[in-house]
Amino acid sequence: MTNHDNISQGNAIPFLDLVTPHVQLKDALTEVFQNALTTASFIGGPAVEAFENAFAEFCDTRHCVGVASGTDALRFALMASGVAVGDVVITVPNTFIATAEAITQVGAHPEFVDVDERTSTMDTEELRIFLEARCEWDEATERLISKSNGRPVAAIVPVHLYGHAADMDPIMELAERYKLVVVEDACQAHGAEYFSSRNNRWMRTGSIGRAAAFSFYPGKNLGACGEAGAITTNDEEIARRCRMIRDHGQAKKYYHDFEGYNGRLDAMQAAFLSIKLRHLPDWNEQRRLRAQVYGRLLNELSETTILPTEAPWAKAIYHLYVIRVKDRDDLIAQLAANRIGTGVHYPIPLHLQMAYRHLGYKEGDFPISERLAKEIVSLPMYPNLTLDQQKRVCERVRQILAERSPVESGRSVLMAS
Ligand SMILES: *Cc1c(COP(=O)(O)O)cnc(C)c1O
Repeated sequence: MTNHDNISQGNAIPFLDLVTPHVQLKDALTEVFQNALTTASFIGGPAVEAFENAFAEFCDTRHCVGVASGTDALRFALMASGVAVGDVVITVPNTFIATAEAITQVGAHPEFVDVDERTSTMDTEELRIFLEARCEWDEATERLISKSNGRPVAAIVPVHLYGHAADMDPIMELAERYKLVVVEDACQAHGAEYFSSRNNRWMRTGSIGRAAAFSFYPGKNLGACGEAGAITTNDEEIARRCRMIRDHGQAKKYYHDFEGYNGRLDAMQAAFLSIKLRHLPDWNEQRRLRAQVYGRLLNELSETTILPTEAPWAKAIYHLYVIRVKDRDDLIAQLAANRIGTGVHYPIPLHLQMAYRHLGYKEGDFPISERLAKEIVSLPMYPNLTLDQQKRVCERVRQILAERSPVESGRSVLMAS
């Protein structure tokens, strides 16, 4: 995190305020550091186990394995779930690159399906079409094969983007039908909920697939004071393998069953996270309240702006509050001129990133992701954002959009573009 991201100067409204919660928790966090110095217990140990137990309980899973980042969590979860070199793993193009990096870094091949325009998460109908029309079942190996490259399909990685759950029931059903593993990318969804009709209950994201990955990057809803991540799972074997993968493939010191990584969660980060986890339910609730406030204050802009909505089966935790407008860059520039910070998550869908040119996708392949990428703006969103700040943000947004000519700013244009 760079300073200008989080330091609030004068009456500027930063996109993210990471300073305030740390100042509020200063005594408890400082104590962690002092304890670490006097015990010199920096890696593993009781602080890591305590956090793992607390986070597993929070996510309603049997196991949690702390690792060094969300990217490690995704990579280790895929490896531990049996995704092998040459396999296909299906995900969405509108996500942070780490989702795809984890797939390629286990030697697998990412293939994308587009997202649902209302939730920005995996379009389960597109997934079904992909599995039924673009793949074929191989009787000999009892595996689904991607027709375009002849590779076996191993896994699906839905992303609970912005803190809103993907529609997991159809994803789990399709995965069962075709013997695929589901690894949730829950890196933006600590405590989000999904109503599963198949299970007839609300479920925490991270507890639905075979395994899930969380990031505790400082700006996430639950953030460390540095880098950290975790895998959650109900599968004891996956948990055991993740524990080995994060620690050079060893269960016993210097007895290496396979090559792993240096991907452990360090003890101070675990202790910081345990302190912050106690506040997470309240912080998430504060974000939900701020989302409601934005919804009320921006409601009258329905001609020119599309606001985030919650699917009936989702309780979102608003990691980001993302609106859609035409000519987004102009809005961002004008807000910046008024010292209001914003973000774009993300400006280029993965299939059009230079890093993935070799995958051979082209513009037009995933039209919803491409359109969203052009229209999205993330407004300031954090638990301590004040009502006054939200009013000022919305007042400016309203003024900027009102000054545009009605023809060029119409929602009909936005929807049809
Ligand atoms: C943050 C994030 C990651 C990666 O987490 P790191 O801790 O930064 O490695 C992966 N996927 C998504 C959707 C994320 O937002």
